[in-house]
Amino acid sequence: MRPHQTVTIAGAGLAGALLATLLAQRGWQVQVLEKRPDPRRRGYAGGRSINLALAERGLHSLRRAGLQETVMAQAVMMRGRMVHFAGGGTQLQRYGRDDSEVIWSVHRGRLNMALLDAAEAAGARLHFDAAVAEVDFDRRVLRCEGRSGGREHGYDRLIGADGAGSAVRQAMMRRRDLGERFEPLGHGYKELEIPPAADGGFRIEPHALHIWPRGGYMCIALPNSERSFTVTLFLPQTGAHPSLETVGDGRAVRELFAREFPDALPLIPELEQDFSTNPTGQLGTLYLERWRAGARAVLLGDAAHAMVPFHGQGMNCAFEDCLELAERIDEAADWDEALASFEAVRRPNAEAIQAMALENYIEMRDRVDDADFLLEREIARELQARHPDRFVPRYSLVSFRRVPYAVARERGRVQGQLLAEIAAGAGTLAEVDFARADALVQSRLDPLPAE
Ligand code: FAD
Repeated sequence: MRPHQTVTIAGAGLAGALLATLLAQRGWQVQVLEKRPDPRRRGYAGGRSINLALAERGLHSLRRAGLQETVMAQAVMMRGRMVHFAGGGTQLQRYGRDDSEVIWSVHRGRLNMALLDAAEAAGARLHFDAAVAEVDFDRRVLRCEGRSGGREHGYDRLIGADGAGSAVRQAMMRRRDLGERFEPLGHGYKELEIPPAADGGFRIEPHALHIWPRGGYMCIALPNSERSFTVTLFLPQTGAHPSLETVGDGRAVRELFAREFPDALPLIPELEQDFSTNPTGQLGTLYLERWRAGARAVLLGDAAHAMVPFHGQGMNCAFEDCLELAERIDEAADWDEALASFEAVRRPNAEAIQAMALENYIEMRDRVDDADFLLEREIARELQARHPDRFVPRYSLVSFRRVPYAVARERGRVQGQLLAEIAAGAGTLAEVDFARADALVQSRLDPLPAE
């Protein structure tokens, strides 16, 4: 489709700003309506250093927008998960085979601001302090609210990239049943901080995603380029075990850390302060049976498929959405065809990563310190070395490859069964019958398509 007329995007967050860049670079006239003030002038909301894991899918979309260098200049490499065992001691479990298979910790605020600069440089017009409040799909008019009052904006084509609480989605649902279902996880989180050491360096290994797995709950920490770490404590909402209900104040959180995360406690000097001042985040999964309603309008990113953060893929998936939509628009005969094919391709894949993100919570908090899990990991690495085109661990398919998420999930299922069969009866890697394992891999796993 040749670019013509305007595209209006609700939300200048991660997805909205990247999509604005990609479409403006293709010659579309893009206007973006964002609820918040411009973070480049007013400072990023919250001001805290919140980071995100960027993996190959997200990086690929950024590369296609010409943003790789800008973003990577401040990214911190994470080679694997550093597990902090309950009994003391740590172990680095590499994510990939070598440093070509790693994930990156990026600062959310700086990434968003770099994307806003790129969108403007490509010609998009950004309107801040403009919260979409209502959509009239017949007249193609958006009503926005801001500090200076209400305003109407006409639109020709509309994309809702306005996050998990999307107002565009709510307006769509007043017109058409989108089959919405929100499943709360029943767990929430608090962000805490490990500041830099007195000499200005990192206090713990910088090139890792640290995890303190404790069965029903966990703590994680991701490095920042300022040499601090953002720590996230995930706890059940309620219950007698440590929960957000029982760990209600600073004293209780100190007791929890002293008992369960003793090596982390001295690293977080403002523990009580962080815990009581920072908001408690809620987690859940948003399922929609339809992403479109009204003429020429579609949802993407968290507005369409918010997920729990345990695979570090919400933003990566949202960035993949943006590139897919831009490419569908390039290829389709008209806008409706582009949106329909975008939804058909992306919805099953979003559902697959939503499911894998939920599964990964169990793995991170309950399995990474388990002997069976570690043996299966060792076998998986050996099988990958022997069959690099067939056996690729699911984490790698999701994080270092771009095969559709649904394919990653299905291959992960087959590989999981294989590993259980191969590991059964073996106590160590040396006891595994690799001749049998090779035959099983050859018979059950087709070679992966080249990317
Ligand atoms: P958002 O980033 O939420 O942006 C939505 C934008 O729309 C915002 O700017 C908002 O102000 C604006 N907006 C809202 N309402 C309106 C309105 N009515 N009108 C106009 N504008 C509006 N993902 C990863 O890939 N890796 C990670 O490591 C990772 N870690 C995470 C950790 C946590 C604790 C959480 C909660 C999420 C994490 N995610 C991670 C997920 C990631 O944050 C989201 O998937 C990503 O932000 C989605 O981008 P988005 O643009 O769709 O939505």
